[in-house]
Amino acid sequence: MQVIDTIKCYGCGAMVENIAGQPHKYVGATQGCWNVYEEVLAKEYGEYEYFEDTHRLTVDTYAIQHPGQPGKQSTQSVNIHLISLYSVLIKNISGGEATKKIGKILEKNPRFEWLEPPVPNGKIT
Ligand SMILES: [Zn+2]
Repeated sequence: MQVIDTIKCYGCGAMVENIAGQPHKYVGATQGCWNVYEEVLAKEYGEYEYFEDTHRLTVDTYAIQHPGQPGKQSTQSVNIHLISLYSVLIKNISGGEATKKIGKILEKNPRFEWLEPPVPNGKIT
């Protein structure tokens, strides 16, 4: 039986495989957590019925649970993904419409403020 070394992801708190590496420039996730995220994305891309309804939510929730460190890209990322979640979950627009909305917002080159993540950063990882 293979024993897997695990660590707590510093973004979301999930216990994931301890793998060396920095998976993304500004998304604050351990490599093991990022690998799980990529498996979910692969399933969404491979099964189109998941893609339309869930992909927007997958990307948005992962991004805001892994805000990284304060900086221009990470600040914009968290803000724009929160706007998307608000649009889909509260305003009941589709993921595709939310993506268009995000594009229109970014065309205006807005300035966002760093939003300090809550501690703990959610219970579902
Ligand atoms: Zn994580």
